[in-house]
Amino acid sequence: MDINADIQYLKGVGPRLAPRLHKLGVKRIIDILNFFPYRYEDRRRCQTANQLSDYLDKNILLKGTVVKVEMQNPRPRFYIVRAQLRCYSGQLFWAVWFNQQYVEKLLKKNAYPLFISGKVTHNDYKKSYEVNVEDYEIITPGREVEKIVPFYHLTEGLYQKKIREIIQQALTDYLPLLGDPYDVDLRIAQNLMTLRDAVKEMHQPGGRETWKSAHHRLVFDDFFYVQLAMALRSHRNSEAVPGISFNSAGELVKKFYEHLPYKLTVAQQRVIAEILADMAVPKPMNRMVQGDVGSGKTDLALVAMLCAVQNGYQAAFMAPTTVLAEQHYIKISSRLEGVPVRIRLVLGKHTVAQKKGIYKDLQEHKCDIVIGTHALIQENVKFAKLGLAVIDEQHRFGVIQRQILKSKGEENIDILLLTATPIPRTLALTFYGDLQKSIIDEMPPGRLEIKTYQAKPAEQNRLYEFCRQELRKDNQVYIVYPLIEESEKIDLQAAVESYEFISKNIFPEYKVGLLHGRLKEEEKEKVLADFRRKELKILVSTTVIEVGVDVPDATVMIIENAVRFGLSQLHQLRGRVGRSAKQAYCFLVAEAKSPESKKRLQTMVSTNDGFKIAEADLELRGPGDFLGVRQSGLPELRVADLIKDEKVLKEAKNCAFTLIAHDPLLHLDKHKPLKQELLKRTNTLVDYIFLN
Ligand code: ADP
Ligand code: MG
Repeated sequence: MDINADIQYLKGVGPRLAPRLHKLGVKRIIDILNFFPYRYEDRRRCQTANQLSDYLDKNILLKGTVVKVEMQNPRPRFYIVRAQLRCYSGQLFWAVWFNQQYVEKLLKKNAYPLFISGKVTHNDYKKSYEVNVEDYEIITPGREVEKIVPFYHLTEGLYQKKIREIIQQALTDYLPLLGDPYDVDLRIAQNLMTLRDAVKEMHQPGGRETWKSAHHRLVFDDFFYVQLAMALRSHRNSEAVPGISFNSAGELVKKFYEHLPYKLTVAQQRVIAEILADMAVPKPMNRMVQGDVGSGKTDLALVAMLCAVQNGYQAAFMAPTTVLAEQHYIKISSRLEGVPVRIRLVLGKHTVAQKKGIYKDLQEHKCDIVIGTHALIQENVKFAKLGLAVIDEQHRFGVIQRQILKSKGEENIDILLLTATPIPRTLALTFYGDLQKSIIDEMPPGRLEIKTYQAKPAEQNRLYEFCRQELRKDNQVYIVYPLIEESEKIDLQAAVESYEFISKNIFPEYKVGLLHGRLKEEEKEKVLADFRRKELKILVSTTVIEVGVDVPDATVMIIENAVRFGLSQLHQLRGRVGRSAKQAYCFLVAEAKSPESKKRLQTMVSTNDGFKIAEADLELRGPGDFLGVRQSGLPELRVADLIKDEKVLKEAKNCAFTLIAHDPLLHLDKHKPLKQELLKRTNTLVDYIFLN
C-alpha cells in the first residue's frame, strides 16, 4: 500500500478512469485525498419546484417522483434524457440529463422518489425552466440520504457518483496512511485538527462547525508552507551573509541631480533615501519599489545604479521587452551625457559578434551600466564586478530568472525590483514577505487624472471626432487591439484592417503607424521612434506597447474590444497616456456582457488607483494568474482564499517565522516531516531555499 502510487492502482479506478483523473490534476492516490469539493449540498433541506425561476443559473435541490421519461437523440452520439417529476410540494418540473442514456431505463423502472440537483436553466423552446442535472439520488428505503453531500469538479466521462465512490475508496484504504507533518506541540499551540480528521471532514462533513475546523486546518496548511519557505529565505538573507556596502556620496549622483530636468517628488526622494540606506549597509539589499505607472521609477533605478558605479561596481538593468530596454537605454544615455559612465545595451536580437563585444566589455570592466532584456541572463554573460541588479516590471520575471541574474555577481549583490502592478496586501504578505518594500504614492506634479469612459462600438465615429480635436492640439493617439494567442491571426487582422481604414478614410491628413508583434525588431523600433518623435500622430497597435512605453504627448488611448483584457493589463495600457501635464483620456470600447466583464470596465471607469484595481483584479481572477504566482515556484494554495482568509494567513505567518527563528534549517527531529512536506510542495525553489 503506497499512498504515493499512481491513482490507477486505487481499487475501482484502473487504466480506464486514471487518465480522466489525471486531467483533474489527480495523479497519485494522495492527490485524490487532497482533491476537495468545490461545494456542498445539504440534503436535509431542499427547495420546491415553485422556486425554479428564483434559481435561474443557480444550483437547486429538489425532491420528486418520476411522472414520465423521454429520450431524444438530436444528432449522432448526442443523447438527451428528459424526465418530468412531481415535486413533493405538488408542482411538476422537468429535469434534463445530457449524454447519459442509461438514465432513461433507470428512471423508468424506478418507483421511489429522488433527489435532483443541478443548475436551473430556461428552455426557450419550451418556454419553461428546467434543471440541468448534475447529480441525482434515488431515495430507496432504509438508505441514509439526508446528509451533506460533496460536489467535485468533473471532467468528461466522470460523474459525481463515480468520483464520490473513488474518494470513499481512497478514504477507506489510504486515510490511515496519511501522516501529519505537524508535531503535536504545533497542532495544539495553533489549535488545529489532525490532517487525517481534516481531510475526512472535507469529503464527508459531519456538520457546519466540524467542517469549519477542518477547512481552517487546510487553509492554515496552505499559508504555512508558503510562509515557511519565506521564513527560510528571509532568514538566509538576514543571516550573516556579507553584502556590499556602497557609499552614496560622490560625483556621479550629484551630476545626475544637476542634469535632472525636473524636481523629484517627495515620494521619489523618500524612496531614494530608502534604497541608498539599504545599499550602504553591508548586507544584500532585496527591495521592491511599487509605484503606479508614470510615477517615475526609472529615476530611482538610475540613482541606485550610479551609486554602485561610483563605488567601482557594475550595475545591470533588466527589462521584460526589447522596446522597454531600448527606451531605458535611450533615456538614460541622454540623461548621462557628459557624465563619465559607460553604458551598453544587450538584446536577444544582437548578432553574435555584437554580443561578444559587449560580453568582453562587461568582463573587462569596460562597461559600467548594462541595460538589457532576458539576454542579460544568458550563460555567456559574465561581469567583472557586478554590484547591483535592477529588474524593471519585476512581475514579468520568475523567481528563477531573478536568481540567475543575482548569481552573476561574485559577491552577494544588491537587488532592486520595480513594479507598477501593485501587489495587494494579502498577496504581499503571502508571497513577498522576504522583500523590503518602498512605495511611491505620489505622481509627478501637474499630472491630471486620466478620464476614462466606456464606449459602444457603434459610437466609433464620435470617438474619432474626439481624437481629431486632440490631434489639432498637437497631441497623439493610441488605438490598441487585443492580442490573444489562440487567435493571433484574427486579432492581427483587426489591427491591420483598422490601420488601413483609419489611415485612408478617417485621418488621411495625419500620419498613422502600425505596431504589432509580427514586425521585425528594427521595424518595431522604427515605428516607436517615429511616434516618439511625433512623425507619427496615431499609433494603431496590438498589446506590444503594454509596458513602459513613454510618450508624453500621447493623450488619447482607445482600447478596442476592451472586455478581452484583464484589469491589470487595462491599467497598464491606460498608463501609456497621462504622462505629462496634459489632460488625458481613455476609451474602453466594448459591449460588456458577462457580469465579470462589466465589473472590470466599471472598475476602470471609477478609479485610476492602481492599488484598488489590483485588489479588484485579485478578487476577480484569483491569485493563480495574478503576478505569475504560478511561475514563482512557491507552493500553490489549494484551499485558502487570499481575501477571505487573511486572518489565518497572519497566524500562519507568525507561526512559521517563530518556528524558523528557533530551528532555522529544520534540523530538529520533530520538524523532519515538515521539511519533507515543504520540499514536496515547493519543487523548483528547493535548491534556492536549502542549497544556495
Ligand atoms: P514609471 O514609474 O512608469 O516607470 P517613468 O520612470 O517612466 O515611470 O516616468 C514617467 C515619466 O515621468 C518620464 O517621462 C519621467 O521622465 C517623468 N518624471 C519622472 N519623475 C518626474 C518628476 N518628479 N517630475 C516630472 N516628471 C517626472
Ligand atoms: Mg517604468
